[in-house]
Amino acid sequence: MHPIQHQRHHYKISILLLFLLIIVGWFPAQSQENTLSERLKQHVSILASDSLQGRGLGTDGKYLAKQYIIEQFREAGLKAFNDSYIQPFETRIGLAWVNAYNVVGYLPGNDPGLSDEYILIGAHYDHLGYTRENNKKTIFPGADDNASGVAGIIEIARYFADNPDQLKRSLIVVAFDAEESGLLGAKHFVEQPPVALDKIKKMFSLDMIGMYEANRGVDLRGIASLDGGEINAMTVGDRQDVSIRRTGSNIARRTDTAPFGDKGIPATHVFTGTKSPYHKPTDTYDLLDYEGMAKVVMFSSELISQLSAETDLIADASLIAQIEQAETKPGRRRSAGITLHTGSGYHTYTDEFFRANSVFNVSTGLYAHLPLSKLLVLQPELLYDFNGSEIDGGNFRRHSITVPLNIQFGTPTVDEVNARAFLFGGAYFRYSFAGTSAGTTIDFDGIYEPTEWGFSAGAGLQLFRFQISYTIRKALTGILQNNEPEIFDNNGLFTVAFRL
Ligand SMILES: [Zn+2]
Repeated sequence: MHPIQHQRHHYKISILLLFLLIIVGWFPAQSQENTLSERLKQHVSILASDSLQGRGLGTDGKYLAKQYIIEQFREAGLKAFNDSYIQPFETRIGLAWVNAYNVVGYLPGNDPGLSDEYILIGAHYDHLGYTRENNKKTIFPGADDNASGVAGIIEIARYFADNPDQLKRSLIVVAFDAEESGLLGAKHFVEQPPVALDKIKKMFSLDMIGMYEANRGVDLRGIASLDGGEINAMTVGDRQDVSIRRTGSNIARRTDTAPFGDKGIPATHVFTGTKSPYHKPTDTYDLLDYEGMAKVVMFSSELISQLSAETDLIADASLIAQIEQAETKPGRRRSAGITLHTGSGYHTYTDEFFRANSVFNVSTGLYAHLPLSKLLVLQPELLYDFNGSEIDGGNFRRHSITVPLNIQFGTPTVDEVNARAFLFGGAYFRYSFAGTSAGTTIDFDGIYEPTEWGFSAGAGLQLFRFQISYTIRKALTGILQNNEPEIFDNNGLFTVAFRL
């Protein structure tokens, strides 16, 4: 080699060493001889070191974290899609746009029949950064949240790079950015995936895996969103003596699993639990349980290996139901609110062709809005009802509990403004518990009937949170117990309902 070139080469190495020393700080260079838990501790101590300043969005500390992860992906043996580990995107803090970067690598599976399908492991590497108050800088190191998960995916990647025979499907490994700002890295990834999204058959988010012992196990929320996922996990857990605490098919919404689940990809949050100093300045690397992390990493590796060899990886039916629920348009959502009916009431006398004059009526209470189909809504109400009529010598007044049950038949909902028009009809039940008739107390034990049935009908409009309508209620059972004469209650009411 030419001496001058040799010189230059040497110079480059010194710069690289200097850079590594800055990142690594007081730690000696990593050795393959180290045990898994020691390697995990090294990753976490570097990512959660004060020099990385809490890996806040748009900071140099997060930039250094990204560089470290790229180095580790390369060293572990991950391949890059399109020659780059970086998937850049932009996000906004207030009015300013900042650059953000997912770090993405992959390993091809060894089974030609399965290797065009992928399992994805991800961990977010951003954290909260630091605050500055009265010239005092407080760093949130984010060791458990989520230097632990990043260390985990690096070591899982290394395991499969060193043991390619253990991987039948291919593996995508992602360090997500901007999770703490609203899962932005994961959202970007599912919008711009490096492979067709329907080829990603299973996703794991390792988010906070550093507190195994304190929480006495690991949670696998969402594992049952994969058909057969729970049984596979339990088998591996038994074999490795890993205690699995929470499982189930519900996809965790507060970590990077959510955007994948919304796309129909079975997704599992690997999580040692909330007994952790996460989101506090005390989330430091020295508090984590690295033996427990090593357990979680070995468990995850074996589970991924086992799943990568399954004949089919398909979503459980419950995942489809979750997506439908999330996608339900506002017009089809159940809701509830308060309602106020004001208007008038009067009595009719069937045998005398007599109709009394009206008096003021009011009822108020709660309603539920239960869509049955695009056009039909079931709307039960529970009301306190002050009703009555003018009679000879004064007014008839009752205090009642009234329970209308109506079906609305309406136009389809205009979702942007939640608008629709509707007609409705149904029945009501009324129980009266107090009242006066021309100044004397009503006797519900002997003369007056405490219960009443009738029908209701009307028409209305819905806009945003409001429903306004006109309602008539007509009793089909009489007011008097002996029905002599037959007297029936009637109401005509304006209704305003407000959705809570
Ligand atoms: Zn997190």
